[in-house]
Amino acid sequence: MTDVKLPISETFVSLQGEGKLTGVPSWFVRLSGCNLRCGWCDTPYASWNAEGESRAIAELVEEARASNVGHAVVTGGEPMIFNEVGTLTRALGNAGLHITIETAGTVFREVECDLMSLSPKLANSTPAEGDTRDPLGVWRERHEQRRLNFEALQALIDSTPDRQLKFVVSEPGDLAEIERVLAQLTGWAAEDVQLMPEGTSVPEPGRVAWVVEACLARGWRYCHRLHVELFGDRRGT
Ligand code: SF4
Repeated sequence: MTDVKLPISETFVSLQGEGKLTGVPSWFVRLSGCNLRCGWCDTPYASWNAEGESRAIAELVEEARASNVGHAVVTGGEPMIFNEVGTLTRALGNAGLHITIETAGTVFREVECDLMSLSPKLANSTPAEGDTRDPLGVWRERHEQRRLNFEALQALIDSTPDRQLKFVVSEPGDLAEIERVLAQLTGWAAEDVQLMPEGTSVPEPGRVAWVVEACLARGWRYCHRLHVELFGDRRGT
């Protein structure tokens, strides 16, 4: 069973940079391929220009176990588009690892997961008209159709013992869309909601004061990017 393979763009050990488990030493596996094309995607090597190699699940789990960090983060790209992600997560669970899955929440699959890290994509993610990365001009409409799947989001929330909803925000107008998204979902608490300012650098003081105010007013959390602060915007961190 675990000689099944998955397309992998990278694996690495680092501190989790985002969300409830920020700062926790973790083994990351990034599956290569995505059903969305966010304009601001920070891992284009797993979406716009998916690259990597096919690797056996048994080999990946052995690497995770040998890393001795105890936490595995299954990320992408979009890990849930792959049938075999359930096999990978069950094997990681059998190896005794705590599992976080990082997903946009557009596809539901049966998986083993301790923390479902959902990042529903807002309108600010849709690629611009004429984006040169999309010469056929098909992704703007496709992304817009796929980016919110409330049935999948709800099933993912309900299927795991803990969850977080991380929203990448660009401007105050995004808050109304977040409220609309949350109103269609149940099984989440204010402390599960996180706002992450868009960008690949640490925001200068004052630039995201509106995000801080939104968190304080609603009991939501501010999500920074520890890995960017510690290592800059680069792969393998
Ligand atoms: S869902 Fe994630 S990996 Fe896919 S395009 Fe958006 S940011 Fe990139």
